[in-house]
Amino acid sequence: MPPQVCHNPPKTNQRGGCVMKRSRVQFQKGLSLQQFLNKYGQEEQCQRAIFRAKWPNGWICQHCGSIEFYTLKIRLLYQCKHCRSQPPLISGTIFTATKLPLTTSFLPIFFITQAKEGIAALNLRRFLGISDTAALRLKHKLQSVMKNADDTLKLHGLIQINDVYLGGQSSGGKRGRGATGKSAFCRSIEQEY
Ligand SMILES: [Zn+2]
Repeated sequence: MPPQVCHNPPKTNQRGGCVMKRSRVQFQKGLSLQQFLNKYGQEEQCQRAIFRAKWPNGWICQHCGSIEFYTLKIRLLYQCKHCRSQPPLISGTIFTATKLPLTTSFLPIFFITQAKEGIAALNLRRFLGISDTAALRLKHKLQSVMKNADDTLKLHGLIQINDVYLGGQSSGGKRGRGATGKSAFCRSIEQEY
């Protein structure tokens, strides 16, 4: 079924401004920084989170298939009881090459997901107290895995697309929908998949 284009003009308030429908996505309940730190503010908590993500069905040796292991806490290693192999916890994850504490590597996940625009690497560097290169690398890695995860998702249910405007003054004047010289080329689309 082709997308259905709504030709109805948007509702306006008493001042002639557009009335935006409250977005469930924008106003969804999220995790506050304090809540995030309560969950991932310590190395052990981050390690447990990676362990659960890496071995959701329990630890298993990649070499012999054993599920019995020793924990070598100081080196973040899990040693197989049978073949003695020691797969590092962070190998095969986006944290593989990092020398940063896991708590520092986890924090960008919070900051990047707080706004649809993400966060500038410069701010990330400032917030985390790390180098420009490390901030940029972390940001790119996280954006890459977020994109890869999104690419596997198929849209379903009722899909709503916001309006898109083109043109208008490049500086000064009114912003947003009310700006002069802007043309709406897609007001809203609702599609049931
Ligand atoms: Zn083994």
